[in-house]
Amino acid sequence: MKTIGLIGGMSWESTLSYYKLLNEGVKARLGGLHSAKVILHSVDFAPIAQLQTEGKWEESAFIIKEAALSLERAGVDFILLCTNTMHKVLPLVTPHINVPFLHIAEATASALNVHGAHKAILLGTKFTMQESFYKDILNTHLIDVVVPDEKSIETINQIIFQELCVGKIEKASKEIFVKIIGDLKHYNPSIDAVILGCTEIGLLLDQQSSKIPLFDTTLLHVNEALNHAILS
Ligand code: GLU
Repeated sequence: MKTIGLIGGMSWESTLSYYKLLNEGVKARLGGLHSAKVILHSVDFAPIAQLQTEGKWEESAFIIKEAALSLERAGVDFILLCTNTMHKVLPLVTPHINVPFLHIAEATASALNVHGAHKAILLGTKFTMQESFYKDILNTHLIDVVVPDEKSIETINQIIFQELCVGKIEKASKEIFVKIIGDLKHYNPSIDAVILGCTEIGLLLDQQSSKIPLFDTTLLHVNEALNHAILS
């Protein structure tokens, strides 16, 4: 079994999910007392979130690069960056790192392709929904992306940072997400998938909340890692 490096803490609420899901996945596949071989580098999210809002992406890339180098020195076989948003800076990081990253958007796009989905709602931070770094990868895999309107993007972003990333799971916020998904589907009937493109959204929504298939990026990223660690 390969050793998985995690860059976590963004937020630690979803890093907990990664750790749990990786171990559950290894147990399901190998049985007995088997558990995942994991090395976690968990960062302080507050300064990174601040750099995000200030648009200082090169400074945040430096923090991610240092984390990746520490995992490389510790001997991991590959790395998961446990956040969708920070994949924005991955192109600034990978030239300095020898071990591969498993890209969360690539894992997600592959799952949508396997499922035969063509038009997906993308929910995530405002950076993920508004900028091109994530949508471009989905487009390359022939997936059309639909994002909510400006006001809903702001609302979703606030729920992510002010609630989900600090461990608050509110029924009212779940209803807001469900309404946004329902409205988008109403105006775009050909939508056939919803991407939970933020690693905390799966803490709020599950498949029972939506008639359209949900693609939880945390689960898909973990699944990709399990295939890589155990099968390859
Ligand atoms: N974990 C989130 C994501 O998947 C948001 C936190 C961040 O901005 O990194 O995008």
